[in-house]
Amino acid sequence: MALTQLPIQDLLAENKEHACEGCGEEGVCVRIVSIAELPTRFGDFQIVAFENNKDGKDHIAIVRGDVTGAENVAVRLHSECLTGDALGSLRCDCRDQLEAALTAIGRLERGIVLYLRQEGRGIGLKNKIRAYALQDYGMDTVEANLALGFRDDERDYAVAAHMLASLKVKSIQLMTNNPRKINDLQRLGVNVAGRLPHILPANPHNEFYLRTKAEKSGHMFDLRDFKGKSHLQEQSDRPVVKGMTEKQVQALQD
Ligand SMILES: [Zn+2]
Ligand SMILES: [Zn+2]
Repeated sequence: MALTQLPIQDLLAENKEHACEGCGEEGVCVRIVSIAELPTRFGDFQIVAFENNKDGKDHIAIVRGDVTGAENVAVRLHSECLTGDALGSLRCDCRDQLEAALTAIGRLERGIVLYLRQEGRGIGLKNKIRAYALQDYGMDTVEANLALGFRDDERDYAVAAHMLASLKVKSIQLMTNNPRKINDLQRLGVNVAGRLPHILPANPHNEFYLRTKAEKSGHMFDLRDFKGKSHLQEQSDRPVVKGMTEKQVQALQD
């Protein structure tokens, strides 16, 4: 059962007055501003809109079931990618990752996708397209990734941690392939009771992951499709595709 009108009104009233020291070093404080029904092709959800005191961006939570006061709520952190999520770009695998999360959570009684509005790892859409263009002109993966900008991880997690607190989630099962993310969230006060591996179904679009090999010496997992073009990693953790070998999965975490 989703949140009903009365608790929604209470939550909105509380949030209207909410102000706190905030999460993380930057003191990020978020507030719920509105909650609405969101039926989707992945199941019925509610969409929760937040405002915050730092970046003026409207971060959202896509919520399945009543998560207030709930334990072991499945949670996926997803960073916005207009080209992937909305346009189906194959330069990244963001849409596959988002759909896999919504499909998995849509089958559960409760769960949350936190949709964080940090396009192109926080550098914005315009600059992300610039990085794509640099790649088109032959820049290598590392250079293009540098141009794309590294994510300010600390802030991502601070926003996410506060959003979960605003939703009164007691504990979560984090959908990630990176066990280290658990510590990051815990440091910010989130009770992470466990980890759910985030596994993408194999399809022609993510086949390039299956063809990659872990480099013996390096820690980079170089993602190339069969035409030899590299793929930018835009989400903060690397996807596991059904069919990957143990060794490949392990290499993602090193
Ligand atoms: Zn706050
Ligand atoms: Zn993307």
